[in-house]
Amino acid sequence: MTTDHGGDVRLTGISKTYDNGFTAVRPLDLTVPQGSFFALLGASGCGKTTTLRMIAGLEEPTTGTVLLGDQDVTSLPPYKRPVNTVFQSYALFPHLDIFENIAFGLRRRGIKSVKKQVDEMLDLVQLGEHARKKPHQLSGGQQQRVAVARALINHPKVLLLDEPLGALDLKLRRQMQLELKRIQTEVGITFIHVTHDQEEAMTMADTVAVMNAGVVEQLGAPTDLYENPRSTFVANFLGTSNFIEAEIAGRAGDELTLRAGDGKLSLPAERCSADTGAGGKVLVGVRPEKISLTHADDAGTIPEDRNRITGTIADSSFIGVSTQYVIDTPLSDSFEVYAQNIERDGRLTPGAEVVLHWNPAHTFGLDADQDAE
Ligand code: ATP
Repeated sequence: MTTDHGGDVRLTGISKTYDNGFTAVRPLDLTVPQGSFFALLGASGCGKTTTLRMIAGLEEPTTGTVLLGDQDVTSLPPYKRPVNTVFQSYALFPHLDIFENIAFGLRRRGIKSVKKQVDEMLDLVQLGEHARKKPHQLSGGQQQRVAVARALINHPKVLLLDEPLGALDLKLRRQMQLELKRIQTEVGITFIHVTHDQEEAMTMADTVAVMNAGVVEQLGAPTDLYENPRSTFVANFLGTSNFIEAEIAGRAGDELTLRAGDGKLSLPAERCSADTGAGGKVLVGVRPEKISLTHADDAGTIPEDRNRITGTIADSSFIGVSTQYVIDTPLSDSFEVYAQNIERDGRLTPGAEVVLHWNPAHTFGLDADQDAE
């Protein structure tokens, strides 16, 4: 719909210390590629909304600059920035119908013939048949789509979304995630989306910045963050992880050999964010769904090249798509395993001795000295 999409959003050295002396955002550098769906993800209070508000111009940074393409917008008021924001609260005008809510931005600029553009927006958010209804006659999801259409009508170069789905129930939330993604793909502008919901960020975004205590802990594509977390915070925030304390015993090519208890584990060097020198302490992580279980009596059937540890099943629960096991091992208090296509081995019940094994490529290594979350 618009051809000039404004370039990347670049934050350099941006920070915010509020008047009461509290630092919500520590100096951070962040580049949001033009046309991407970018998520700022983190727990309540980590500074993601403050970051978004500094991009919008609603909050003045204490240090640093906000660039939009080549334009330094740091000192521009919100209405002069080619940016618009959608809030969780929708903020629709209750006395105006949907058409007029969407037309509002155009009318305020003195534009008289608004029909073509508003119809285009109604089509985009698939609400054409509701044009003459009032906001209260629409569902929460539909109202949020009106808010998106209203924010897009003036062709911003960046759309900021502050927990836009926070007020919706889970099912509607899932639908709206896909809907927002479709709208972003269609309009092609940059969306920066704030959420505390890791699944939401992973579903929607091309790139996710995980924030914690005012800093970006890690930035990357959702699969990269999930498979290659570089801190226990990111590993735990994006799903469940099992950890084993280990020590580097040696290196053969691209593969590290680790000592863990009496056993050995392999770890691709590129998947280790700790110091990889011999003797280095590493926290080895593996996701529950990457682990297979074999009864100890059948351990001989496990291929040689798999990482393995032994354990005893402490608990198991069938949760539909998979069976969830808790396993006591000498290396860790309890291991969680989600087994999906497990053969119907009637022996895999509490008390059974088992071997847990997985492909070394699904292992990640963290610095064991970092603060555990
Ligand atoms: P949430 O999802 O709860 O909004 P968030 O990650 O978006 O969390 P922010 O809203 O950016 O976090 O707030 C970060 C921290 O800054 C919080 O501890 C908050 O209490 C504090 N904070 C926010 N606004 C102000 C303000 N105007 N004055 C002082 N402290 C503030």
